[in-house]
Amino acid sequence: MIYLDHAATTPLDPRVLDAMLPYLREGFGNASSVHRVGQDARRAIDRSRSEVGALIGARPDEIIFTSGGTEADNLAVFGLTAGRQDGRRHVVTSAIEHHAVLHAMQELAERGYELTVVTPDRGGHVDPAAIAAAVREDTALCSVMLANNETGTVQDVAAMAQAAHAVGALFHTDAVQAAGLVPVDVQALGVDALTLTAHKFYGPKGAGALYLRRGTRISPTQYGGGHERGRRAGTENVAAIVGFGAAARLALEEMGSRAEAIAQVRDLLWAQLREIPGAHRSGDEARCLPGHLNARFDGVDGEAAVLNLDLRGVAASMGSACSSGSLEASHVLLALGLRDEDARGGIRLTVGRGTSEADAMAAARILQEIVLRQRALSAARSG
Ligand SMILES: *Cc1c(COP(=O)(O)O)cnc(C)c1O
Repeated sequence: MIYLDHAATTPLDPRVLDAMLPYLREGFGNASSVHRVGQDARRAIDRSRSEVGALIGARPDEIIFTSGGTEADNLAVFGLTAGRQDGRRHVVTSAIEHHAVLHAMQELAERGYELTVVTPDRGGHVDPAAIAAAVREDTALCSVMLANNETGTVQDVAAMAQAAHAVGALFHTDAVQAAGLVPVDVQALGVDALTLTAHKFYGPKGAGALYLRRGTRISPTQYGGGHERGRRAGTENVAAIVGFGAAARLALEEMGSRAEAIAQVRDLLWAQLREIPGAHRSGDEARCLPGHLNARFDGVDGEAAVLNLDLRGVAASMGSACSSGSLEASHVLLALGLRDEDARGGIRLTVGRGTSEADAMAAARILQEIVLRQRALSAARSG
């Protein structure tokens, strides 16, 4: 199989698995227990907290462990708005957010908040000036993702955070796609909160974090024990958190070389695919994460192409993994101004560390055959 769906999830690094295994065996303790096996788990979690903090330039006490990116996004949206006690009832986000943010924001609107959704330009950029125009004296929170999961387009989050702060609003960014792949620094970004998750950079599923700038008020979204300093109740998933820490450490050590190699393979893939007549790429090539390629081919349905790719041993996706199976066109591609039928043509190919140049060449050849075959079939049907 040629795996080109690294934006959906990545394989577990064997070194990360090795770091985790002891905590699934003899190191099974509950980190809240006073005895030794518990305290060993506590120390392991604290080590991971430092490693995850180091990946994004945060202090360990600014990291809240969660069950993943979705929970961290929900905690940010609901927790930061509820944590404000100044009566602000307006929130701002973009039309291309992951559903973990977008649907949470829409739920806030159901509960009486006023929601402004900012539309990006055709390249997928959210203009910081549009954020500045959207925020108001009663804006509680603004959330715009650092890099989009479907197109890979990277946003100027620092300028947006500044615009939000100018009116006293908090700023959150979903950095799930960027973290561990390209440098992410919470100080340089100037954000109050940031989401990341381990399984998008060779760590395990079920471990994520919300960075919360020291001194920022947040209300918990689930209640129970005093875990995570009262901000996220529930017994910690020790092995997954240990894996998260190991993945963060390895990402920090190997980031430069990884990103460069990944971009090279992705560029080779696109160089092959763009030779197909009627090939298009969505998003901004100049400001794109190294592994992302969102392609479409005139007259070719994305879902059919992805299913045929799978039959030929190539794993790709349409838009995001979470929305596949739904009958709707990608909300991201629609927000970029694509017509419905064009948005349905989107094929997301995301390259990772394990993708070779030979994989890229083989996948491009297979996809070309599928495109030509689909076109021939629809020509025969309409002829
Ligand atoms: C994958 C993803 C999430 C969800 O993270 P999980 O850990 O899978 O819950 C959130 N935001 C973005 C941008 C993602 O790509």
